[in-house]
Amino acid sequence: MTTELEVGLYIFMLAGFLGYHIITRVPPLLHTPLMSATNAIAAISLVGSLVVAGSDYSNVPNGWVCTLLGLAAVTCSATNAFGGFLITDRMLRMFKTAEERARGTRRPVELQAFGAVLALVAVVAVLLYATKPAGMAMGEYLHEHVGAGALRYCYILSAAMFVLGLKGLSSPKWARSGMSLAAFGMFVAVVGTLFHPHIVTYRWIGLGILIGAVVGGTMGLQIPMTAVPQRTALSHSLGALAACLVGVSEYFRYQGQLSPVTLTALDFEVVVGGLTFTGSLMAAGKLQELLPGRPITYRGQNIISLSLLSVIVGSGIYLVATQAATSFFYVMVGLSLVFGLLLVIPIGAADMPVVIALLNSYGGLADAAMGFVLMNKIQIITGSLDGTSGFLLSLLMCRAMNRSAMNVLFGAFGQVSEEEVTAAAEAKGTVRSITPDETAVLFETASNIVIVPGYGMAVAQAQHAVAELANILGQRGIDVKYAIHPVAGRMPGHMNVLLAEANVPYEQLHEMEAINPYFPEADIVLVVGANDVTNPAAKNNKSSPLYGMPILEVERAKSIIVLKRSMRPGFAGVDNDLYYNEKCMMLFGDAKDSLTKLIMEMKSLL
Ligand code: NAP
Repeated sequence: MTTELEVGLYIFMLAGFLGYHIITRVPPLLHTPLMSATNAIAAISLVGSLVVAGSDYSNVPNGWVCTLLGLAAVTCSATNAFGGFLITDRMLRMFKTAEERARGTRRPVELQAFGAVLALVAVVAVLLYATKPAGMAMGEYLHEHVGAGALRYCYILSAAMFVLGLKGLSSPKWARSGMSLAAFGMFVAVVGTLFHPHIVTYRWIGLGILIGAVVGGTMGLQIPMTAVPQRTALSHSLGALAACLVGVSEYFRYQGQLSPVTLTALDFEVVVGGLTFTGSLMAAGKLQELLPGRPITYRGQNIISLSLLSVIVGSGIYLVATQAATSFFYVMVGLSLVFGLLLVIPIGAADMPVVIALLNSYGGLADAAMGFVLMNKIQIITGSLDGTSGFLLSLLMCRAMNRSAMNVLFGAFGQVSEEEVTAAAEAKGTVRSITPDETAVLFETASNIVIVPGYGMAVAQAQHAVAELANILGQRGIDVKYAIHPVAGRMPGHMNVLLAEANVPYEQLHEMEAINPYFPEADIVLVVGANDVTNPAAKNNKSSPLYGMPILEVERAKSIIVLKRSMRPGFAGVDNDLYYNEKCMMLFGDAKDSLTKLIMEMKSLL
């Protein structure tokens, strides 16, 4: 006989494999939307939170605590759902081909989605009316006969929609429709949960959803694209907090009566949820520069962190072994919150994207654990999909940087002293600089130009100026291509999103493998705030920390112009040999300022 736990485990594994196959097919172009899409889908913690917020605690001493925890969990999850889907849609709306841009707006996905919702609601209403026994009130029929079945079918439907939604991300053409389907899946799961037999009041549910809609909606609509990394981190922290709060509420209610299996899942849920909450908050703080971005290290750091982890794991084992109702559980939750902080402190701000992707995966696992505690299969499926996606993305990033996950997590990468920078620069020789007017004259002689954007473009918010310059060059008959490195910037696919925001058609964006053979033909390469991703030391200097990382081979072009403010290194903290190459000229200054001057010069040459 197969137990519910076994079924849950099978579902978890199969969803993980399915997630692997779907997510490996998402092109690098859409990796940032993928991160925010899985983040939105992870808001499925909402279904568990709804049950906790709406349950009857009249027989539980101090049951209001559970209601309060449920309300907070609903608010966090709803914020994630609204914010996540809205910002993903904003991003995906930007990805257009030149033809689609010329034609104007795309197919109205919102109208299609709204039509589909209306059609489904109408079909369900007709079915309910047709099957209701004569003389029975609709409310009584819904509560007594439809509830449990509706819940089951809604969950199956929404699981299928989440999978198809993620599948849509395998092409920019279908990505938006896919995400609308996933958002609809979330709607169906939430509506289905409202029929849950444990829900006796909708008061706190309504309040939590309302707050979540306002906060999440504002975040989703207002946050600039350059702040997507920190928003994603913040959103992970809210999702993880929801999982942790639901776990705490379940323990508060059922302590002393939980089976070892449920208690194991619950321990896992609160510990992983807790550490993901504080870890993600810290990651968001570092990315927003509210906290120091450099890695913070101290003597015995790894030993202290490992000792704390051992205490947490030991506490979990003790709780399961004794099954006692003890406040020791809350100490374990507190320690996992501290552990999350310790985990992220030694990692530099620039490595945060890998950390965020890993925390995304932890958040997914916490959601899946919540699914095991509540025996809710939709949460097991989405938790597994989310966990796989985050894990795969972090591996892809590590591979593109030629670094191991261990090096990212424990290597304190990015610590560079001022003396090292100066010493390295002095040892290398002459650097040629160029002015905007000289650059404009040089452009006049070119027939093709490759633009290489990097993190500095995001810092300067220069994407619109880059696109304007490219348009001017195009009008002069100069062929313009963009070369995109998979880890340029601070998020996978970061440059694609920023350029899409500036209306650059995505067919002009060329991935590293495709554009590298083209560099020898390029008359000019214009590097806009990119550094490490162009550093030839990655190919020819075995002692460089970048050695082995695939790079954009810009040094093979006929001439190179680099826009940056100084000779300071990039994320890896190493000097760039490219700047001493005799074909290379530096246009010093903020990238946006330099581009604005360059555009004016180009216009004056007309
Ligand atoms: P980078 O190596 O970090 O270099 C960025 C350059 O931009 C800096 O050298 C800086 O020089 C310049 N800059 C900063 N602000 C500027 C401004 N306002 N105007 C003009 N220039 C400005 O960036 P990258 O070449 O894009 O490489 C990304 C790095 O991040 C790689 O090492 C990658 O491994 C790492 N990373 C990426 C991801 C990801 O998912 N994308 C994840 C983790 C790590 P100045 O200070 O002199 O201006």
